[in-house]
Amino acid sequence: MSTVSDYFGCNVFDDRVMKAVLPSDVYKSLRKTIDEGKKLELSVANAVAEAMKDWAVEKGATHFTHWFQPLTGITAEKHDSFITPSPDGGVIMEFSGKELIKGEPDASSFPSGGLRATFEARGYTAWDPTSYAFIKDKTLCIPTAFCSYGGEALDKKTPLLRSMEALNKQALRILKLFGNEDVKRVTTSVGPEQEYFLITKEMYEKRSDLKFTGRTLFGAKPPKTQEMDDHYFGTIQPKVQEYMKDLNEELWKLGVLAKTEHNEVAPAQHELAPIYSSTNIATDQNQLTMEIMQKVAARHGLVCLLHEKPFAGVNGSGKHNNWSIGTDTGVNLLSPGDTPYENAQFLTFLCAVIKAVDDYQDLLRISVATAGNDHRLGANEAPPAVISIFLGEELNGILEAIEKDAPYKGVEKKQMKLGVDVLPRFNRDTTDRNRTSPFAFTGNKFEFRMLGSSNSIACANIMLNASVAESLKIFADELEKSKNFENDLHKLIQKTIKEHKRIIFNGNGYDDAWIKEATKKRKLLNLRTTPDCMPLILSDKNVTMLTGHKVFSKAEIESRCEIMLENYSKTIIIEANTMVDMAKSQIAPAVESYIGDIAKTALTKKQLDPKLVSKYEKDLIKKLSVSVERILDLADSLKQEVSTVSGAKDIIEESCMIRDKVLPAMNELRVVCDEAETLTDRAHWPFPTYGDLLFGVKN
Ligand code: ADP
Ligand code: MG
Repeated sequence: MSTVSDYFGCNVFDDRVMKAVLPSDVYKSLRKTIDEGKKLELSVANAVAEAMKDWAVEKGATHFTHWFQPLTGITAEKHDSFITPSPDGGVIMEFSGKELIKGEPDASSFPSGGLRATFEARGYTAWDPTSYAFIKDKTLCIPTAFCSYGGEALDKKTPLLRSMEALNKQALRILKLFGNEDVKRVTTSVGPEQEYFLITKEMYEKRSDLKFTGRTLFGAKPPKTQEMDDHYFGTIQPKVQEYMKDLNEELWKLGVLAKTEHNEVAPAQHELAPIYSSTNIATDQNQLTMEIMQKVAARHGLVCLLHEKPFAGVNGSGKHNNWSIGTDTGVNLLSPGDTPYENAQFLTFLCAVIKAVDDYQDLLRISVATAGNDHRLGANEAPPAVISIFLGEELNGILEAIEKDAPYKGVEKKQMKLGVDVLPRFNRDTTDRNRTSPFAFTGNKFEFRMLGSSNSIACANIMLNASVAESLKIFADELEKSKNFENDLHKLIQKTIKEHKRIIFNGNGYDDAWIKEATKKRKLLNLRTTPDCMPLILSDKNVTMLTGHKVFSKAEIESRCEIMLENYSKTIIIEANTMVDMAKSQIAPAVESYIGDIAKTALTKKQLDPKLVSKYEKDLIKKLSVSVERILDLADSLKQEVSTVSGAKDIIEESCMIRDKVLPAMNELRVVCDEAETLTDRAHWPFPTYGDLLFGVKN
């Protein structure tokens, strides 16, 4: 068996392969395109395509596909084979530069939110050379952006690349003011920690709620879930370990730097974290990771649940988006520096992030809004829907000192030095950890923790990059005019802290008192549900910012709002329909059949001796009979609520009706069914229980 370093990236057309197989002038041109965004000549594309095909065919690939991320949230691919007939009746394998650069999938079935009139069904995909091509299932996958013929983005990659460009542009302006002339490019990097549940395939197949909606819609709480905290970082079961080993190998072959794996808080819950990479690549790789997680699970007789809330009453799954800004010269701009001057630069970027998160709380919330994630945010689970920033005691102390022009009293390590006359030097070792903050500074990066486990990380990073670009732009506009840089910088930082300190919160984010303080005193937004937040993307403030940095056009923003709300509605309607179906065709009949059994027993007893019939039997028959009737009634009311939704005047009203009418009706039905579960003999219950599912993966 070869070692990891032998096979790592063996299915990726990465820099090592390019260098080895491309003529050196072609390689140099391609690198210029990748590193500096230079336009690619067709002759270069042809040479790259030829080399890519030869490499892929040698590895057994027969097809190629433009791999893209439409607004459905998953990836899409349409396979074409390399074969071209040859005059002698056989075939040759061909792939041209044109096919590499551009594809024309029929786009009419992908969501476009009205952007693409149906008569213009075509869209096109365009190669993104900054993300390496790879082989999956004998198919060469070429990462691409997906646009309409009018040039509007129909995917998540296009605006992500635009947002990275916007941030690059504004960050370079700031760096120049600090005298960093050698920096050519600023990029953001992300390491997404991915949570997931593993259950057995056998049990999964028995639950239509899991199959249709990805989460359980019924299920009484078992005697034990996560109270003992015995799962977190616990020993990984051999069966799960085999899964993780297999998963790592698959990911490593695809060049994904899968690094950390451990059990999470809930039983059957686990986490995988890769080593961070450029945001664009991290996004592609996270999509790929989620796909491979599910595929590998199937090989092990397991199912990987990526839903944000597969089980009520048990911790849901999120994705932590560890985000930093760095230069091509290797400097992490969110890392406190060694010299006071570097620290002044660090504080400038830090303040830009603080301002961005405060000014665009709504956009950040919107970027993680889905029906599934609403069960975590805004419910009694971490993190809350209110966005705040955790900085840690030391950094917080420094900002306070700057704000008040007061001397800084170091918390432990007193290192107050007014470097450049204005800014203190401090320790980079910010070891304090806060696990409840939605947006936490962790020493040299921010960890945005509100993402749901199934979310593409693209949306969060688009909004993050764009809003930080906006802060930097405002800073640069002001500082470029300055006659006394140090002085004006100090004033700017002080002003930013004063204006935006309300967003900084270092306490416990789960605390009810915090939500009160946040909303009442600090006037922070508490957008609990998707219909609460999504329409805010259309506000003048947000449209002006996003179009100003060319991250989205107005039409693209409108279409995204519509698509996201549609997704929300469709998701919940499918859930409601599934509940009605399960209640009527599985749960009610199961309870009836159990009633029948008890009645039969009672009757037999009665025939022997009427005194043998117990009060227990009579009461239970009564109770369960009432319960069945309630279940059927509530299922009918739910069905009724679903049918009234179609009368809504637009998608915003529809999503609000779903939130206010359908969701409560679903909850009511669930409560009665879950109670019936606790009264019904296990042998009659029609599908695996929470206990079965959560503790079912055994060796
Ligand atoms: P935690 O304590 O939250 O588990 P880790 O230190 O294990 O945090 O890191 C979590 C993730 O953060 C990993 O994916 C890691 O690669 C990523 N990460 C570390 N440094 C950076 C950075 N400078 N920029 C972006 N991501 C980073
Ligand atoms: Mg983390």
